[in-house]
Amino acid sequence: MDTLKGRHTPLRRSLWAVGVYLLAGGLWITFSDYLAGQWFPDPETLNRVQTYKGILFVLVTALVLFLALMRQFSSDRTILSLHHHQREEIRELNQFRESVIERANVWINVLDPSGRIVLWNTTAEEITGYRREEVLDSDRIWQWLYPDADDRARNRARAEEILRDEGELVGYESCITTRDGRQRRISWNARSLRNENGEKVGAIAIGQDVTDLREAEMTIRQRERQLSTLMDNLPGMAYRCRYDDHWTMLFVSSGCRELTGYEPDELVNNHRVSYAELIADGGNGGVLRAVESAIGNAESFSIEYAIDRKDGRRIWVWERGRAVEDNGDLVLEGIILDISDRKKLENELSELATRDPLTGLFNRREMTRLLDEEVARAKRYGRALSLLWIDFDHFKEINDEYGHAAGDSVLKATSALLADSVRSVDVIGRFGGEEFVILLPEMDRAEAWETAERLRTLIRETPQPLGDGRTVPLTISIGVSVFPDHGTDSHTLCAEADRAMYQAKSSGRNRVVLAPLVQEAHNP
Ligand code: GH3
Ligand code: MG
Ligand code: MG
Repeated sequence: MDTLKGRHTPLRRSLWAVGVYLLAGGLWITFSDYLAGQWFPDPETLNRVQTYKGILFVLVTALVLFLALMRQFSSDRTILSLHHHQREEIRELNQFRESVIERANVWINVLDPSGRIVLWNTTAEEITGYRREEVLDSDRIWQWLYPDADDRARNRARAEEILRDEGELVGYESCITTRDGRQRRISWNARSLRNENGEKVGAIAIGQDVTDLREAEMTIRQRERQLSTLMDNLPGMAYRCRYDDHWTMLFVSSGCRELTGYEPDELVNNHRVSYAELIADGGNGGVLRAVESAIGNAESFSIEYAIDRKDGRRIWVWERGRAVEDNGDLVLEGIILDISDRKKLENELSELATRDPLTGLFNRREMTRLLDEEVARAKRYGRALSLLWIDFDHFKEINDEYGHAAGDSVLKATSALLADSVRSVDVIGRFGGEEFVILLPEMDRAEAWETAERLRTLIRETPQPLGDGRTVPLTISIGVSVFPDHGTDSHTLCAEADRAMYQAKSSGRNRVVLAPLVQEAHNP
């Protein structure tokens, strides 16, 4: 309405000005002619006055016209220059918009309501390989980008939804075929466009080529899958944990289940139990020291310790790991393997090397080593140490009468009985045949004698099994030597005890003989 009113104003104003001019001119002519007639009755003078009056009228109206036109022209000029300026600005703005759209590194295209392309920017050309001239004002681009009919129908349907203004597209992905036949994955943001009167005029779509991004994501996912397959198939448990008091697990591989009996979830973030709690018998201190020193030397660590599984079973593990920095925090990464079988084998091997297979007692070599150790200790602390040398009486006869297997059975039973009848600090070994040695730390002559007597009596009073349900009586002869009374080295102590044992044999068997003291030995 404002614009209509505005359009009529010049006419009204012009009519008004002409009206005023006619009225003023008429009044002036009528009034001035009347006054002139009154004042100048002389016709000649009146005629001259009329001429001057006419000239004055023309001058005055010319002046008024001049002023009015001046005003009008100068205001016209201002308006014109303003218009020109505005047009310049609009042109520049449009150019700017176009260049932004053109140079945007995203694909921008605008569709008219019938789905034809009306804007196709440089990036659209670059991604698709189709030039602006080929695609503008047509909808054949749909056929080119989506050669597969179903795919095309699906994507066109989405575009039509936008054109009908039934929603927006945010991050919708489609796969296009480029001019040279390559496949590109495009992520779309699109919405409908309306003009200033609110009418639908099409849709704008902004596409981003995410092919490389998706490929990179896929590669990462694939790597992750491979890595987790690898980890899940590793023997033992791969882990990543904090360097803290609990060894708080941040990640454990599925091998956790087999190794610890706990589900990975139960261990991660100490949900149910911390890894430190699994480490058996205060072994955590050793683990901590090994890790600390490895970090100090910037090297990896490898440690062996025992853990208690969820089912209570204790297993030996071998751990190898290293410290790595993670966002300024120190974390440990590594692998933990169950080495219980190896440990068992190691133990078995060391048993084999140190034990007598028939009786399970220490063998001669181990016994000699232990005797050296005990003698050294006795010397260091100035304590006594006694040694019993035991030989079965007439053992050959048992073999001869009942057979070798029966002899073995007696050997086993008697050695077990002897072993059960001494203190836990005492050490018993088989020196060979049916000869046994018992070390009695911190026992002097009297105590050793007493112990030997007790053992001799016990064996005499306990018939030994032959392995077939029958038993046989058995006696033993024992020679006793004592540190430091009979010697201060293992060799002498053995020789003295052995000699005392023979003494026992020769004086009738089934008895205990104490080795003679040094002066007695010299003066028998
Ligand atoms: P003595 O009272 O004089 O000691 O008589 P002995 O028959 O025990 O004689 P000696 O100690 O010299 O003989 C040891 C016998 O022990 C000889 C051997 O037949 C037997 N013997 C040694 N080692 C084994 C073994 O591992 N198994 C069996 N069954 N017999 C063994
Ligand atoms: Mg014997
Ligand atoms: Mg013998």
